[in-house]
Amino acid sequence: MLEWLMLAFWLALVVYAFWFLFKAKTEHPIGLNDLALTWKIHKQNTGCKAKRIQSLITLNNETVGFRCECGYEFIQKRLISQKAPDYSVKKLTNY
Ligand SMILES: [Zn+2]
Repeated sequence: MLEWLMLAFWLALVVYAFWFLFKAKTEHPIGLNDLALTWKIHKQNTGCKAKRIQSLITLNNETVGFRCECGYEFIQKRLISQKAPDYSVKKLTNY
């Protein structure tokens, strides 16, 4: 009986470890203020002249990023284990 419990415990631990290493990085909802700020930084960094954000990127009804008129696409991703957001660019297209 104890062996089965130990086996189940280790199995759960291994499954959790795999989940943590490979699945923990997910799209994370971004607030509209953060989104506007990120867009402003994008415009400053790239000299983008877009007047507005073309569309918002949503996942499971949560805003996770945006698409600029210039083709720039931003999706916020971060590790669950991380406290600070890890901004990353999925795709950068220049027209
Ligand atoms: Zn842009």
